[in-house]
Amino acid sequence: METEIRKMYQACGISAGVLNLGEEVLEELAPRFAAIDRIAEYNQMKVLAAMQKNRVSETHFAATTGYGYNDSGRDTLERVYADTFHTEDALVRSQITCGTHALNLALSANLRPGDELLSPVGKPYDTLEEVIGIRESAGSLREYGVSYAQVDLRPDGTFDYPAIRAAIRPNTKLATIQRSKGYASRPTLSSKQIGELIAFLKECKPDILCMVDNCYGEFVEREEPSDYGADMIVGSLIKNPGGGLAPAGGYICGTAACIEQVARRLTSPGLGREVGANLGTTPSFYQGFFLAPTVTAGAEKGAIFAAKLYERLGFRVHPTGDTPRHDIIQAIDLGSAERLSAFCRGIQAAAPVDSYVTPEPWAMPGYDSPVIMAAGAFVQGSSIELSADGPLRPPYTVYFQGGITWYHAKYGILMSLQKLVDAGFQL
Ligand SMILES: *Cc1c(COP(=O)(O)O)cnc(C)c1O
Repeated sequence: METEIRKMYQACGISAGVLNLGEEVLEELAPRFAAIDRIAEYNQMKVLAAMQKNRVSETHFAATTGYGYNDSGRDTLERVYADTFHTEDALVRSQITCGTHALNLALSANLRPGDELLSPVGKPYDTLEEVIGIRESAGSLREYGVSYAQVDLRPDGTFDYPAIRAAIRPNTKLATIQRSKGYASRPTLSSKQIGELIAFLKECKPDILCMVDNCYGEFVEREEPSDYGADMIVGSLIKNPGGGLAPAGGYICGTAACIEQVARRLTSPGLGREVGANLGTTPSFYQGFFLAPTVTAGAEKGAIFAAKLYERLGFRVHPTGDTPRHDIIQAIDLGSAERLSAFCRGIQAAAPVDSYVTPEPWAMPGYDSPVIMAAGAFVQGSSIELSADGPLRPPYTVYFQGGITWYHAKYGILMSLQKLVDAGFQL
């Protein structure tokens, strides 16, 4: 490494020991990073082709207000998403406030009283517990008469096919399949694995709807779960597909029939997709989606770098440094509350925004234990930007994700280790 950049890192608080270890780890990663760049290149072409096919033009960047009737920018963007993800239709809206909201819409719009929802991949993401009613909550699907069944993954992370077959009942209407591990230490599922599960579910019950929680998975592979038969894929625009530029929003892509239901739930029966002013968000949605393949690639490199670095220091990491990736989350078992806090302090200190603040644990709505979060983001809570968080419970796992540029991700990871060292950890 050249002296100038070495000096720059040291001026930014990284000691020689941490930097040298980082450089050693990186040397091994060159072939892996090259493969990630090829996927990003492919996905960049996919997005470009969809934008060209739909004749995106400057007129599509206009703000609309009020009802938002005839918002051609919004409608064209939805065609771009649908074509990129190979679905019949899509909703991409700033009115969808976050990933949980998008999932709640997709579920509640397509389920009716008496239906059963099945998760064949174990416990869903924490915030969905109240949506479904696994934890008692006013307004949950359960309160509306939708029951829930769950089949856990086998200990090795594979699908428990016999148990899934047994769990499917005549009123099983929809299966929810989470691609990313979220706050669990199970493996993330590849689009192909999800495809196998969907094929099995549809063989057991041809009319079952399959919805994939696609959060953090977009653009990590060449294919999305929608290329493997998912009826709906759902995600947040302050994660991968917003490319770091979308200031808020969510998407649901899927079959025309499912999306029609969601549109009526999002706004109102009778109004559906025709309303919803973009209030000036559209340009950042387009531009963020355009950047999303390369932004996701940078974040994925950061995740792999973190895995390799902490693995080398003897920590348990999920997935391991050599595992193929299907999302951008990296979990590291830090083993103590002190280390979890130190890690988060490092991520915070490396941020472009709010680098001077100290993260503290808090009782975040929707989560059942205190969570510590580090993020110095341009967009509040954006987790495609470099961020780390973890619930304060053993084994004190930090979930690390994002980085709009790979260089920032690299610096953040080095800084996380620096803070561990400053707190007494021996390299
Ligand atoms: C982020 C995420 C969600 C939704 O979270 P929001 O914070 O509401 O956007 C749901 N599922 C998974 C797997 C996620 O990573």
